[in-house]
Amino acid sequence: MSESLIDAANTHQAQALVTRSIDPTPGGDSILVAPSTQDPQTDRGTVQAWAGEDFVPRHLGPSLADQAQMLEVLGFPSLAALIAKTVPPAIRLSRELQLPAGRSEYDVLQTLRAIAAQNQVFRSFLGMGYSPCITPPVIQRNILENPGWYTQYTPYQPEIAQGRLEALLNFQTMVSDLTGLAIANASLLDEGTAAAEAMTMCYGLQAKQGVKTFWVSDTCHPQTIAVVQTRAQPLGIEVVVGDHRSFNFDTPVFAVLLQYPASDGAIYDYQLFIDQAHARGALAIVAADLLSLTLLTPPGEFGADVAIGNTQRFGIPMGYGGPHAAYFATREPYKRQIPGRLVGVSKDVHGHPALRLALQTREQHIRRDKATSNICTAQVLLAVMAGMYAVYHGPAGLKQIAQRIQQLTQTLALGLQRLGYQLGQPPYFDTVRIQVEVHRGWRLLERARSQRINLRAIAPNSLGISLNETTTLQDLQDLLTLFAEEQPLPFTVSALLAETPAAYGPRTSPYLTHPVFHRYHSETELLRYIHRLQAKDLSLTTAMIPLGSCTMKLNATAEMVPVTWPEFGQLHPFVPLEQAQGYQLLFQQLETWLAEITGFAGISLQPNAGSQGEYTGLLVIRAYHQHRGEGHRTVCLIPQSAHGTNPASAVMAGMQVVAIACDAHGNIDIADLRAKAKQHQQQLAALMVTYPSTHGVFEEGIREICALVHACGGQVYLDGANMNAQVGLCRPADFGADVCHLNLHKTFCIPHGGGGPGMGPIGVAAHLLPFLPGHPVVATGGSQGVGAVAAAPWGSGSILPISWVYIALMGAQGLTQATEVAILNANYIAHRLAPYYPILYQGQQGLVAHECILDLRQFKKTAEVEVDDIAKRLIDYGFHPPTVSWPVAGTMMVEPTESESKQELDRFCEAMIAIRAEIQAIERGEVDRHNNLLKNCPPHRGGLNDRRLESSLFPRTGRVSLRLDTGT
Ligand SMILES: *Cc1c(COP(=O)(O)O)cnc(C)c1O
Repeated sequence: MSESLIDAANTHQAQALVTRSIDPTPGGDSILVAPSTQDPQTDRGTVQAWAGEDFVPRHLGPSLADQAQMLEVLGFPSLAALIAKTVPPAIRLSRELQLPAGRSEYDVLQTLRAIAAQNQVFRSFLGMGYSPCITPPVIQRNILENPGWYTQYTPYQPEIAQGRLEALLNFQTMVSDLTGLAIANASLLDEGTAAAEAMTMCYGLQAKQGVKTFWVSDTCHPQTIAVVQTRAQPLGIEVVVGDHRSFNFDTPVFAVLLQYPASDGAIYDYQLFIDQAHARGALAIVAADLLSLTLLTPPGEFGADVAIGNTQRFGIPMGYGGPHAAYFATREPYKRQIPGRLVGVSKDVHGHPALRLALQTREQHIRRDKATSNICTAQVLLAVMAGMYAVYHGPAGLKQIAQRIQQLTQTLALGLQRLGYQLGQPPYFDTVRIQVEVHRGWRLLERARSQRINLRAIAPNSLGISLNETTTLQDLQDLLTLFAEEQPLPFTVSALLAETPAAYGPRTSPYLTHPVFHRYHSETELLRYIHRLQAKDLSLTTAMIPLGSCTMKLNATAEMVPVTWPEFGQLHPFVPLEQAQGYQLLFQQLETWLAEITGFAGISLQPNAGSQGEYTGLLVIRAYHQHRGEGHRTVCLIPQSAHGTNPASAVMAGMQVVAIACDAHGNIDIADLRAKAKQHQQQLAALMVTYPSTHGVFEEGIREICALVHACGGQVYLDGANMNAQVGLCRPADFGADVCHLNLHKTFCIPHGGGGPGMGPIGVAAHLLPFLPGHPVVATGGSQGVGAVAAAPWGSGSILPISWVYIALMGAQGLTQATEVAILNANYIAHRLAPYYPILYQGQQGLVAHECILDLRQFKKTAEVEVDDIAKRLIDYGFHPPTVSWPVAGTMMVEPTESESKQELDRFCEAMIAIRAEIQAIERGEVDRHNNLLKNCPPHRGGLNDRRLESSLFPRTGRVSLRLDTGT
């Protein structure tokens, strides 16, 4: 972002906000004596301070009185005393964060309204994979704006996830039908990263060939080409961009990537090209517009091995880049190589069909540095919406939408030809390319802008116009009038329409034949379907979801409301910056705040999940070493306890993973680290470390660890998924990290959405700023930036207001209190449960950070009870099970977060204690070891044990359905 832009964006509302940021109220040590946001008696004295009411006590679960009680149970006189013992003094931040003071919901939303008003919503005809569309209101209100859907967790526990699993199976079936390919996954992050995933999947499949060249059509969207190039580079893959009409495969390639229809609207018949590719041993990937496939021959029918693309135009707002669900479909034989998650149809213990995530063995947690992809959080909520859009419209409705767009496009083309313009070759689907002489092109773009219309400049001598679901005859009238340049139109649009030839629709194969796409076309039926599915699932609207490492905290309504404001929803990601001043100001403020919270010099908001942040951060480190002539530094040290995305990301960034052992307390074994760092001193690129550790403790040695890595020439990458234990108390940059990602969908209140969306921005120290990722269409990033890592320059822009609102509501003191209460809640649970279940790891002071691990391994011997049995039994008690068997097999990791009240924590503890008594009854022989409450729960148990289900899902002879099937 340029200075002038930021200057321009600073109107007075914004300045008021910035002024607040340099006037933090000095705070006391203990929240018990920090009245400004906690004590209604003392702080509501002045009229000025009142605007609604304080948000902080709404965000925090336990009241002050509850906190006092919990502290007493733990034996601490104050929260400050607990924190002083938990967080090692060596890393403790000695001052308050320099952030604006917390404000009320009413007040913050007023400010945000003024910021949003600085975004200008023009009519967008830009295309390039993003189209204005109509979100059916019934889907907007009942899914997108409904916490029953957006606060769900990833569906790892099928017994309480049948609703979203069914919605995702609908999505998979829709993609599979429309693309004509057998298998589709349950979403990826965006079209660019999906193309990159397809490239690496094909690379893996073709490994034996030893060919390292990937061919990409120059008619792909520019952001797709850029993301693919970035991904290829560290893997040593050479990307050749060319014209499929002239490429004759004399250079061997392992796969090709085509766009269908092409970015400029051309619809090519790729059959011969793909036949040729296959004959030369190459695989074919087609990036296809899913809506167009209701009319066009699907990629699966002309030989594509993989189809990928965006499902944004299936009812998802453009949102200045996202979030939207990308899709990924392929042929049956490649099902084990598919990146992301798949939903499969299985059977529950009673033999009834039940859904669950399938093929989990290829996930990073098990495969680690052998994983084929690092995708963890994807775009579940958006996939659910896109699937519902297809359920609502059905095959005939979708086809009608597509035909209407196509007809209007042909009418537009006819009109432009009558005006004397040369157009790209027909047929068209939604985009026409118009030849114009350069000066005329500029004039037209200018004129369009003055009428609040955005056209695409495809090349110096051609413009592009892409139509969409919202396009009207008036739009055509306006566009044609624009291109007539002052002259009266020599025709009427309705006369043109009458002359337009019939829709071009070579597709003959049926799609969306399953009854689900035919039953719910009335709003009443769809409303009930959505609610029926929702009712099968557990979300934060029902109970605590104590998922270790995933920080399922409150997603406040005030944080969510702006997401569907049109000023945020209706912006195309590539509009000129002057139309996105509101967004730019919001990003700049959010970057400033996140930089202050982490201690880093700069932030990139581009990565759209934690995994993408890891990959980006490591690319930045790689670029830094290369820039210093140390490109041979490619060894990445990763503790055994690391999240599976860490090793998978390191491999994607072209690094070799060396594992570091952990000691009996769960800490990094510093002796082993020292030995490995020394051993690889010449090649050391980085250490990836999670802090507090994945074992839920603040490691005392973190400064020493960082210093050690630096002394050996390496950089420190900090996995910031556990930032909820640090905000306001310590900062990664201060204790030695060089890069860190933040999971905004964990610590900073973006809801989990059932497995996405997410955002994984990275913070970097000053020496790494020049390498922050750039973008081919909108200038951003460092002067020597690594290429684009996501399709949109600022990732999923429309969910960034959520984190902005959270920070603005909480302020420096509120955020710090949240961290302190998160630590209090975790220690309270650990303390209450310790007499029943051993706490696996504790810090030197016998305390945990913001989560704790319960060791359940003993019960296997004493009662044949396994961790899954306890997890399932918790469902009977009304809870979502905690993280199971990670980071240690046979254990449970509990993270209550600051938002859960003492009553809810007690309810959870009591459930766990009751389960302990049930185990005891088995231990004592009072109940049967195999026929008991723990083994038979919940009544419709369908999860079984992962491994057992894996084999039953794919029996040697039988079949499993990864899509809806009228037969099952
Ligand atoms: C959640 C998590 C990640 C991955 O983040 P995604 O957004 O799911 O890609 C990485 N590391 C840790 C420790 C995590 O908890």
